[in-house]
Order: sequence, then structure tokens, then C-alpha cells
Amino acid sequence: MKRRLFWLLLGLLAVLVACMALGLGPFGRLGTSPAPGGKVRVTASFYTMAEFARQVGGDRVDVTTMIPAGVEPHEFLPTTQDIAGAYKSQVFVYNGAGLEPWADKISGDLGAGGVVVVNASDGIDLMAGEGSAYDPHVWLDPVLAQREVDNIRDGLIRADPKDRSVYEQNTAAYNQKLAALDGAFRSGLASCARRDIVTSHQAFTYLGKRYGLDVMAISGLSPDEEPPPQKLAEVARFARQHNIHYIFFERLVNPKLSQTIATEVGAQTLVFDPLEGLTQQEAGRGEDYLSVQRENLANLRRAMECGS
Ligand SMILES: [Zn+2]
Repeated sequence: MKRRLFWLLLGLLAVLVACMALGLGPFGRLGTSPAPGGKVRVTASFYTMAEFARQVGGDRVDVTTMIPAGVEPHEFLPTTQDIAGAYKSQVFVYNGAGLEPWADKISGDLGAGGVVVVNASDGIDLMAGEGSAYDPHVWLDPVLAQREVDNIRDGLIRADPKDRSVYEQNTAAYNQKLAALDGAFRSGLASCARRDIVTSHQAFTYLGKRYGLDVMAISGLSPDEEPPPQKLAEVARFARQHNIHYIFFERLVNPKLSQTIATEVGAQTLVFDPLEGLTQQEAGRGEDYLSVQRENLANLRRAMECGS
């Protein structure tokens, strides 16, 4: 039912977009325009895309995040205001790979309206998540994240060619930090007592492959999908078989299922943040992609009992 409602809303969205493209409806004809101070106006779908765009764009860009802090992106649907904002921006950045199906719907129209559309996962070999759907969580792998940063750089250069060297330098500097993060994961997870972990939703296809984790996820690709009871029994069995002491949960998702399984198998819970959005508190503390990933690594090392 939830799915059907989703597709119905997506259909309405498509009609709305068509009206806006024709200059009908409450917004008049929309056009791209620079932000105050001559900055490049960028709209990004969710936190990590916005963070990468800020890192590449530096003081040359003004980035708006469509999905607000504290909101989980898998089931997000933009408001008409959000869509109007995307039409006014010069660059629109989204992850793609099925995370934001509404963005696939509007990307053609945005492009026709003069917006440079960046599908950040473009060119990455996508891996299957569940069934026929791809796992969209490429940004959690610090190596693939660099590819997304490159794609964002190319989009900003297309929109603002005169600042090409700024974007190239910023990209090189940030990718160096991502490469260092990759090094930290590689060495930090090299010698561990266990490779098996239990996580909240299926976000680990790329990270798990990169660092050799064996991952059992409680929910599917989207954390909002309630798993069937037999799945919970399967996860509990996996946790017992592999003598697992920690079950991961996420800050933006109700921890109930993780807690239930932890209690059942006598384990504790730990946070793994898939960086789909910061909480208000994290944003307030000045946390960012790199700092949260370092926390993720520390918690993985604890759960996997890794040596120095
Ligand atoms: Zn996710």
C-alpha cells in the first residue's frame, strides 16, 4: 500500500514538473540563476551529496540540501517548493542508483531547463542489493566516494568553467582525505577476530566488499521496510552462530528491531551511521562525512574485535 501511494505521488510529481516546465501553475516559468554574491547555486538531494558539493565548490558555491537534517532519504518525496528550488539552481546533485527515484523522474526536465544534472554514481559498477534492485549506498565506500566527488567536480566545471582550477584543486585535496580514510579502514580492519556483523538496513554491499565484511542486514535496502518475522529469526540465528556481541543500529531509524535482536541473543547495540543525513545534534556538533566515518570505523573495530 505504501509503495502504491509512493508511485501515485511520483506520478503527480511528474505532472507538476511538466506544468512547471510549461510555465503553468503557481511558480510561473522557472529559470536557473546564480546565488547572491555570484556563487553557483547548487541543490543536492541529501546530506552526503551536499557535503561533497561543498568540499568541491568551496566558497564558489551556495549549496542547499533538499532532504532536511534528521530525515531519512529512502522514502523521501520532495515538496513542490523543493522541486521549484531544484529548477532555480544551476547544478543539481543526486546519488542515483535508485536512492532518489523522484530525481530520475525530473532530471531530464531539469537538464532541458538549463540545470546541470549530476548523477554522482554515474560510471560506478553498481552491485545488486536485494532482488533486481541495485544497492545505492556507494558513498559509504571511501574509494567509490572519490568517484562521486569527481563527477560533482565535472558538473561544477560545466556550470562554471572559469573556476575550473579551483574545483580541480579542491577535488584533489578532498580526495586525498578520502584516500586517507580508505587507508584507515584498510589497516583498521586488517586483523580482526571476526568478519561477521549484523546491521540495521542493507547499506553495506560496497563497504563490505571493499574491506571483507560478512554482513547480515535486518531490513532490506530501505530501512522503512518492516522485515518478516522469519527474517528476524534468521538474523538471531546468524548472530548466535557467529557469536556476535554487537548489533548495529542507525540514528535516523527506530532502533527497536536492533534492540530486540540484541536482547534476544545477549548482545549490545552500537551505532553505524550510513550518512544518509546527519541528526540535528550531529550537525550542531560540526560532525561531517569524514568524522562520522571515523566513528563508524571505531565502532566496527569494536564489534569485530580488531587488533592494532
Ligand atoms: Zn540506506
